[in-house]
Amino acid sequence: MKFDVVTVFPDLVEQVTSVGVVGRARERGLVDLAVHDLRDFTTDRHRTVDDAPYGGGPGMVLKVEPFLRAVDHVRQRRGEPGAVILMSPQGETFTHEAAVRMSRLDHVVLLCGRYQGVDERVRVQVATGELSIGDYVLSGGELAAAVVIDAVSRQMPGVVGNAESVATDSFVRRMLDCPTYTRPAQLAGHAVPEVLVSGDHGEIRRWRKREAVKRTFRRRPDLLRRARLDDEERECLRELQAGGTRESAPPAVADDASQESAPRNAAKRSAAAQGHGAGDEPKRRVSEAFRGAGRSEA
Ligand code: SAH
Repeated sequence: MKFDVVTVFPDLVEQVTSVGVVGRARERGLVDLAVHDLRDFTTDRHRTVDDAPYGGGPGMVLKVEPFLRAVDHVRQRRGEPGAVILMSPQGETFTHEAAVRMSRLDHVVLLCGRYQGVDERVRVQVATGELSIGDYVLSGGELAAAVVIDAVSRQMPGVVGNAESVATDSFVRRMLDCPTYTRPAQLAGHAVPEVLVSGDHGEIRRWRKREAVKRTFRRRPDLLRRARLDDEERECLRELQAGGTRESAPPAVADDASQESAPRNAAKRSAAAQGHGAGDEPKRRVSEAFRGAGRSEA
């Protein structure tokens, strides 16, 4: 699949897409990514890409003509793209489904804004769509474009070595993935669930399914409305719906109000987790245990 990225910071896009899974996919030719410097499509001596906003106000706006020329250049050199996407916090929110849909295209162009954004005529005249990677504002579209390239590349056959690992990833069947563990089996009171070291592959498979359903039920019940469950998973969900209280994931960053009640929430969560036998432990306690383990080994 071909990607073209138009940006004022080509190095930034090159760097984040040259390592790991995407880097290897590029080396193997599964992903053909060309990064274009917006300044190469200017006509003045200073290679000006931005200008002050009409009507006044702070900051600068990326000009329309360099984007028009850049996309023309891509069309001539690399062929007609299936989509020209403007990265924008105001666009459609990027999801797993959007990544799968995009992975079926042969060629996608991603346009990156900076500063106060881009001249509105870029959206109207060149873009076929707009994508946001979430409800927050970044300083530029480069990291957002890299996120899209990464998520889309993973959906292409052969990019991730083990196809099974992609098939069980979170969101693929509108479910979250189950918890995973590796050595050591014991960590200052935090043992790996026994079933995983039992060698009973049937039981391991069932445990993983149950944990994935539980986790989705507790953290993202919204996903379950359209999840594709098999009989075993449906049965597990029925049990949870009959007995369990829903519990949302602890906030990654608590606001002031929830910080005050954090110890109480943590106690509630840990009691609920014990009741269900699932280890959704508050992060603080896990990191304490880790420090403890380090000391005892020293
Ligand atoms: N003033 C604009 C934000 C400009 S941020 C607004 O409030 O809508 C500068 C650039 O960063 C944008 O043009 C866009 O290309 C990129 N960007 C910022 N947040 C983004 C997000 N959540 N998803 C995708 N691109 C984003």
